[in-house]
Amino acid sequence: MSSPYRIPFNKPGLTGQEWRYVSQTIADGHISGDGAFTRKCHAFLERHFGARKALLTTSCTHALEMSALLLGIQKDDEVIFPPFTFVSTVNAFVLRGARPVFADIRPDTLNLNENLIEAAITPRTRAIVPVHYAGVGCEMDRILEIAGRHGLAIVEDNAHGLFAKYRGRPLGVFGALAAQSFHETKNVTCGEGGALIVNDERYAERAEIIREKGTNRSRFLRGEVDKYSWIGIGSSYLPSDLLAAFLFAQLEAWERIQAQRRRIWERYSEGLREWAGRFGAGTPYVPPHCEQPYHMFYLRLPSLDVRQALIQHLKSNGILSVSHYLPLHLSDMGLRFGGRPGDCPVCENVADRLLRLPFYNDLQEDEQHSVIETVKSFTPARSAE
Ligand SMILES: *Cc1c(COP(=O)(O)O)cnc(C)c1O
Repeated sequence: MSSPYRIPFNKPGLTGQEWRYVSQTIADGHISGDGAFTRKCHAFLERHFGARKALLTTSCTHALEMSALLLGIQKDDEVIFPPFTFVSTVNAFVLRGARPVFADIRPDTLNLNENLIEAAITPRTRAIVPVHYAGVGCEMDRILEIAGRHGLAIVEDNAHGLFAKYRGRPLGVFGALAAQSFHETKNVTCGEGGALIVNDERYAERAEIIREKGTNRSRFLRGEVDKYSWIGIGSSYLPSDLLAAFLFAQLEAWERIQAQRRRIWERYSEGLREWAGRFGAGTPYVPPHCEQPYHMFYLRLPSLDVRQALIQHLKSNGILSVSHYLPLHLSDMGLRFGGRPGDCPVCENVADRLLRLPFYNDLQEDEQHSVIETVKSFTPARSAE
């Protein structure tokens, strides 16, 4: 189904090689998991992250579920999360019986506020899961220091942050484990897909086993054992090589994709700076020690009403803009875990006021010009009535 909007919020970008690589897997007769293209994607990611191991998964959600299994999360263990994130960040751990503990976000980067983590730690706390919102790095120096002092594991939800850096190092290298997403809405995609980045050697072998139905099939395929068998618990978390082929076409073109996205981000930033100042709208903040991946461009409007009116104004001009996460501590599940309004005031406030503008690799300059001019033509008093 094509979008009813002249300018949709998202469109998957193609690099041109996807069909060729997908056809190649069909011609070669290997379309199940862990074929030649999966190996190419693993090599790319292991090089990029300098990681002990990178494993493609069927989604970022599944990479997070693998993380919870690898950490041995059990009933009533506590895990600390920001409330301003996608459901999967938290659900993956709750599936294992964890109790989510939410610490509010920073008002500038919208990332987990490192200064609120220690107050959330109890004797039951096992892990901290920072989410690099919009791919802008969390304060990892501080988070690592706190985790080290309390003996807690770190799992980075780096769904937004592929190709971003914190103090010169790629996001995704700081946690024992990190989860990537290749969902259609992310910078690099295969429709549905993800990866688990294993930085801590201790998890490397068991990660392979969990991903391959609890067997040592990966070792068997490398010729390290002469048959494979059931070693421990696991599931099926590996994608078909058809998807890996599609993904490799995108990874290979990462510099072009990132350059396109950088131009789009900078055009929004420049095109809306003066208007935002006059209007009292916030724009993304990137600390000087962070390199962002140009994943999204958002505005922080003065109120919920103004945000909704601007979404309507853009819609009536054929442009789809969208809000983002609802505070997880106030979701039905969050309330069951004891969440209350006022627990995370920064998140609650931002969630009402944030609006994301159309952002995709081949958003054309004239389309973007139209988005910018339409935002600038918005008069809230009239539209809000
Ligand atoms: C997209 C996203 C996910 C989930 O990714 P899937 O690949 O769709 O499972 C998890 N966390 C964050 C922060 C995301 O943006």
